[in-house]
Parts: sequence; C-alpha cells; structure tokens
Amino acid sequence: MGAKIADLQVYGYRARHRVPYSNGRYTYDSTEIIVCKVIADDGLSGIGWTHGDSIVIDSMLKIRPWLIGLDPYRMEMIWDVMYQPKLLGRRGLETRAISAIDIALWDMMGKSCGKSVWQLLGGYRESVPAYIAGGYYEEGKSLSDLQDEMVANKAKNARCLKMKIGKVSIAEDLERIDAVLDAIGKDCSLMVDANNAYNRIDAMKMGKELDKRGIYWFEEPLIPDDIEGLALLSGKIDTPLAVGENEYTKWGFKQLIDSGAVSIINADAQVLGGITEWKKVADYAQASNVLIAPHGDQDIHSQLVGSISNGLIVEYYDSNLNSLLKAFSNHIMISTDGTIPMPEGIEGLGVEFDSELLEEFRFYPEK
Ligand SMILES: [Mg+2]
Repeated sequence: MGAKIADLQVYGYRARHRVPYSNGRYTYDSTEIIVCKVIADDGLSGIGWTHGDSIVIDSMLKIRPWLIGLDPYRMEMIWDVMYQPKLLGRRGLETRAISAIDIALWDMMGKSCGKSVWQLLGGYRESVPAYIAGGYYEEGKSLSDLQDEMVANKAKNARCLKMKIGKVSIAEDLERIDAVLDAIGKDCSLMVDANNAYNRIDAMKMGKELDKRGIYWFEEPLIPDDIEGLALLSGKIDTPLAVGENEYTKWGFKQLIDSGAVSIINADAQVLGGITEWKKVADYAQASNVLIAPHGDQDIHSQLVGSISNGLIVEYYDSNLNSLLKAFSNHIMISTDGTIPMPEGIEGLGVEFDSELLEEFRFYPEK
C-alpha cells in the first residue's frame, strides 16, 4: 500500500506595512500569506502557500476532508477532487486554496524522490532572467525617492525593472516614467504595470506614449474581463501587453490566448490552480507561441519558468517590500548576469518556513 494523505494543516500570516503602498488601483496596508502543509501517513510532508485572506483559509478547511486518505502522488486525480464548481467556486480566492494545496503536493513529490520541482517538470534551462518589481505609490514619495528606489533595485543585479502606473493622471505618470528611465539608464529595461486601472481610452493614450519610450511591456492595462479591449489595444500599439495574474484555470487562459490579445502571460501558479494547472497553461501557451512571465513568488516561479521552453522572465520581490519573505530559509538572489540559477541539490521547492520568525505574524490559527 502506498502513502495516504493524513492531514492538511493551515496557517495564516499577516505583516503590516510600515506605510501603506498603492498600485494603480489598490492600496495595501499589509501582506498576508496562507500556508498549507500536506502530511502523509508515511511521515513525508509538503508545503504550499498563496496570498489571500480568510476566504482562502475557509476554502482549504472545506477541502481538507476530501483529501484525507487519498494517494498524495496522484495530483491529476486530486485536482479534480478539489475542483468542484458548485461547491467551491470556479475562480478567485477559492481557486487560490486549490493552488496552494496542489503546490504542496508537488513539493512533497520532490521530497519523496529527491528531485527539485524544476527537474520533475522537465528542467529546460539552467538559469532564468529576473526583473525586480517596485515603483509603488506612497504618501509623500517624491520623484527622486522613486528614482533612488529603482536605482537601488538595479544595483541588485537586475537588468529589468518594473514600476506601477495608473493611480495618477497620465501626464503625472509620464513624468514618473521619464524620471525612472533617466535614472536607470539605457542598460536596464523598464516595464510598467497598471493593475487594471485604465479604461480603454486612457489605456490607448498611455500605450502610445509607452511606444515612444521603448517600454518592455504594458501590464494589465484594463480589467481582466475586457479581453476584446486588450485585443483592440494590442493591435494599435507596439509595446507588448502582459496580462494574466488575475486569470484562473486552463479554461480562462484558453480564452485569453485564443483571443490573440497578448503575447506574454503572467500565469501565476499560486493563483490559477497550482503547478498541475500551470503546466497545462504553459503548454497551451507554447503551442500558441505565447511566452510565460509569471506574476508573483520567485521561490516557486523561478523553478517553473526554468522548466519550460517558453519561459521569458521571473518576477522578483525584494524582502524590503514584503517582510514575510524574510521568513523563507531559501533566499534566492539574482546573479551578476541578471539571472536566477536553477537550484542544485534541493528536493521539491526547497523552501522551509521559519515558523519561529513567522510566529509574531500568525493570525490563523488564532493565538
Ligand atoms: Mg501586476
């Protein structure tokens, strides 16, 4: 008899930000990470994590009894057990719960056979380019503060940087963009991310301005549901669009990719349905000649991007932006050539949480 799932433990952690920061549409005064640990009856375990709140926790608790007694290495079967549209919802935060559990199963699979997830998925290349995300809005943050931040990020070996736009007028954002371009120099590319902030008219105006400046990509110009608007926009500007951090499951991505609106998708395994589903999205994208540049966590996505042939670049968050990242024991760094090397000698995701360090941030289970 093989191993069986004996338990699913769930933890919620929240870190308050020193000062709230905003992107084009949302303001954050804290960061939450929901962690799950799948434990098998042979003693092995795997961890997965995602961002979210009590909806994610409640969804995990709802799924937990469905998992007990199942073979943890049958992810394809378990995914179908978890995906119950009428009971759990087809998209959104509930799908993030499925995502984190599926990620934990892949971590456990790696641990059980002594291979990294990068190896399990096919190990396509040995390093992946990375960019650093930043350039948020903050009360009192001046243009020179923004420049200093971006230059400091560049100094962490990034050859590509991202900043937020969409919260202020187009004229004001262009001032910010020009200030950053000036500061980071020609040997570093810049992406901009509007986080769904624009209507079609302003997205077009901004897109034409970005064309003049050679911006690497224009991320989430519109609401995720306006796929037709994205297709119209991409037909009229040269700057590539990148979307997908708010898209879910292979079915959502199939629609997005089939629309021809985007050539880069920000498929996030912690959001869209886990590693099992991410691989399907990546393969469908490969067949459609679309590149993958995941949104979010570098600990997970550097291995995933490195495993496929159509991986473009990995998003990198500095722990200055998210203090919970300090509790990861596997700190990934960007090498001097601007890439993240694939991990050697690790099993699964190779990430262990420092539960002592995390204890002060725990909000679930309640203390
Ligand atoms: Mg984004």
